[in-house]
Amino acid sequence: MSDAKSYLGVPVLRPRVGFFELTSCEGCQLQLLNNEATLLDFLDLVEIVNFREGMKESGDNYRIAFVEGAVTRADEVERLREIRRNAEMVIALGSCACFGGVNQLKNRFNDPAWVKREVYGEYPIDSQAAVPLAAVIKVDLEIFGCPVKKEEVERIVTNLVLGKEVKHPKYPVCMECKAHENICLFDLGEPCLGPITRGGCDAWCPSNRLGCWGCRGPAPEANVDELRKIVARKNIPLERLLDRLECFGGFGGEADAVRKELGGLK
Ligand code: SF4
Ligand code: SF4
Ligand code: SF4
Repeated sequence: MSDAKSYLGVPVLRPRVGFFELTSCEGCQLQLLNNEATLLDFLDLVEIVNFREGMKESGDNYRIAFVEGAVTRADEVERLREIRRNAEMVIALGSCACFGGVNQLKNRFNDPAWVKREVYGEYPIDSQAAVPLAAVIKVDLEIFGCPVKKEEVERIVTNLVLGKEVKHPKYPVCMECKAHENICLFDLGEPCLGPITRGGCDAWCPSNRLGCWGCRGPAPEANVDELRKIVARKNIPLERLLDRLECFGGFGGEADAVRKELGGLK
């Protein structure tokens, strides 16, 4: 059931939404619950019928499904397909769902059996190559970040409810970093993916003296070659750039090229 309510004085129809997790740390969902200042307004905006982290009840009668996590098991493939059948709109929530996230790091080893043995020892579980949701089903919208930024999720949900177009920033993290007047971390000897990473996080990491790891994936027209020149000019080992390119899965192609150049992995 959807009740007519108002949000910030504007009448809205509350869509029924469900939150689901596949292979993930559930940190993206936690971000939403953590936002106590606006949580009640958020709950006025949507009718939540499924959210294991936040409520006991569950149901399949939802219009919008937010799915967190990468797909790494056969049962997750089935579950995701079922969610797709139930929902009018499926939203990939966070880097795991959008790119495979930190889970996809295991795909980068040549011997999956070795990885399984190292991680699970004598208690093996079904664990396949980690893939983003879009490798299994049609995804209508992606919300980037590891974790997602709660303010951004709320803005996007508000736009959806009000029927407004959802637009992601086209500029890279550097734009937001410069707006904060941060000292560039390259000048302090630290690599940063800010020049090639999609903005929207308000330069979260560089504003806290940590180079960007690219969790939001590539900005449109990301110029990786130019970034590599900067890294070389600053005498930063290519391996340190590779660590970041590989981390969340958004720069898989670029990471493969650098990895090949450095001689591959076991
Ligand atoms: S994107 Fe990051 S915070 Fe979100 S579920 Fe994956 S690992 Fe956790
Ligand atoms: S610290 Fe990173 S994000 Fe900030 S200006 Fe330098 S490269 Fe760009
Ligand atoms: S600065 Fe980079 S790694 Fe940090 S939150 Fe933003 S996009 Fe993610």
